[in-house]
Amino acid sequence: MTIPVIDAALRARAAAFAREHVAPRAAAIDESREYPWDIVQKLAAAGFMGMTIPPEWGGRGASFLDVCLVVEELAKHCSVSARIVVEGNMGAISAVMAYGTPEQKAWAAKLVLAGDKPAICITEPEAGSDAAAMTTRADRRGERWVINGRKHWITGASVSRLHLIFARAFDAGGRELGIGGFLAERGQKGLEMTRRETTMGLCGMPEGELVFTDLEVPDAMVLRPPGGFARGFAELMNAYNSQRVGAGTVAMGIAAGALEHAVAWAKERRQFGRPIAEFQGLQWMLADAQIQLTASRLMLHAAAASRGPGGSPFPDPDLAAQAKIFASEAAMRIVNDCLQIFGARGYSRAFPLERMARDVRMFTIGGGTAQVLRNLVASKLLGWKLPQRRDAAARPAAAE
Ligand SMILES: Cc1cc2nc3c(=O)[nH]c(=O)nc-3n(C[C@H](O)[C@H](O)[C@H](O)COP(=O)(O)OP(=O)(O)OC[C@H]3O[C@@H](n4cnc5c(N)ncnc54)[C@H](O)[C@@H]3O)c2cc1C
Repeated sequence: MTIPVIDAALRARAAAFAREHVAPRAAAIDESREYPWDIVQKLAAAGFMGMTIPPEWGGRGASFLDVCLVVEELAKHCSVSARIVVEGNMGAISAVMAYGTPEQKAWAAKLVLAGDKPAICITEPEAGSDAAAMTTRADRRGERWVINGRKHWITGASVSRLHLIFARAFDAGGRELGIGGFLAERGQKGLEMTRRETTMGLCGMPEGELVFTDLEVPDAMVLRPPGGFARGFAELMNAYNSQRVGAGTVAMGIAAGALEHAVAWAKERRQFGRPIAEFQGLQWMLADAQIQLTASRLMLHAAAASRGPGGSPFPDPDLAAQAKIFASEAAMRIVNDCLQIFGARGYSRAFPLERMARDVRMFTIGGGTAQVLRNLVASKLLGWKLPQRRDAAARPAAAE
């Protein structure tokens, strides 16, 4: 594992932006549960949306590590704004930039650079951790694909324009080809958000159910990784490794913000005639938080700068999984301890700790649960393939 050098100037710029534009809005975004379009416009104007897009498509060609620096600074104040920057640079947009045709890249870059946060549509009611059990299907009809099915827990479903939809592809003769990625845009006939979840935290970000009813996607909007449909799922899921590092960084940033609040409060709040920071029990809580934070940051940065096997443009899956597990679990402990240091005020909506405690809870679930990612780490360690589904039929993939 190599510890990469970071761009300190970029981090300072992101920190100043977050303090000026994001911090004052965070509580209201949570309270109103409304997507922060005003912040999105400012993020785009500051060049934080689509910063990983290569210069030939209008971006800055920034690295995933650069994105992590920005995301941590935003997450210290507002997790929703930080998640917008994750998805504006990693996941679906990075998959299009890696595997897309020139036309797809131009289309996606234009949307994201203008502030669109793409949606990545994988999870279904009966296919969560077992994502390959998805039943949404795409049937070939001449030069088009017709998609039918249902996804849920899709981040930004009602606000995203670019949708990367994972579906089982079938040729004109009804033979299954494998799982592919299909690009669609909000407003297309047959693409409908039918329900928004009421979530515990991250409240300004809509999580929605999407229903596809004869959604038509031209063949030119199929995202084709080098392995085609037969290897498509594995290769498209590789793009998710960048998003995992981003998600872990949001969790770590929330924890870093909580620790800043807790340090300031411990020095200010007096009991028994002295600042509570003078009690060793609290000093050790703060020290443990700092140690876990440093370890999380180093793991995330190393994962962000790594590359998977076979010339993958995405982070190493094993390092990304380890970093997300460690950072998301450490962040829950850190935020919990920081809330404790605030006493009753930590439990009050008048202070940010309770919002942070609700927000941070998500990151051991979304983007691969901590258990499922441990399976990935263990399989690498043991040199075994991940266990197959018990009911998986041995089904050779048909040619495209
Ligand atoms: C806020 C939020 C945003 C999300 N955004 C998106 C999105 O944008 N796009 C998208 O496609 N999905 C999204 N998801 C869905 C997310 O990826 C799934 O929730 C996740 O993959 C787990 O699936 P599940 O919820 O169905 O849990 P299940 O798969 O039902 O798992 C239930 C429990 O069983 C455990 N478990 C399951 N299988 C195993 C196993 N083999 N070994 C050990 N334990 C196991 C899990 O760890 C978990 O604890 C989001 C979820 C949340 C909460």
